Amino acid sequence: MEHEVKRAEIKARMVTGTYMLQSNISRYNQQEVPATCQICKDEDETLNHMLLKCAAFTGERAAFTGKLTQVLGSRNSGKWDTILNNNLLLQLILDCTHPDVTVIIGDEQRLLSDTRKSHTSLLPRDPYAES
Ligand SMILES: [Zn+2]
Repeated sequence: MEHEVKRAEIKARMVTGTYMLQSNISRYNQQEVPATCQICKDEDETLNHMLLKCAAFTGERAAFTGKLTQVLGSRNSGKWDTILNNNLLLQLILDCTHPDVTVIIGDEQRLLSDTRKSHTSLLPRDPYAES
């Protein structure tokens, strides 16, 4: 329960752009702090990295990615391009009922709404929560 509250909080911060990513922290500190993702250390921690690429969340992402492919078609379909070219993937993940998203995926958003749980499971744990 407490965990769910935490996730809702992270989600709210991501939507409002106030989630402190390592890449932002680094920028504000004149690069004295590395922008690298502190979890996988593979590349800079950006929202894109965290939600789509970070190896640490591969498992949590799998169910959702399956649904996404169902809704958008294969990776090289036009819908994927439209979503990616308009930077809407993050919007889709955070809120698939947003008009910018539904205009592209139409009724298929029902498929995603059905999996609210996988939406939230896609959101990372707060890496700063432990300290
Ligand atoms: Zn990472």
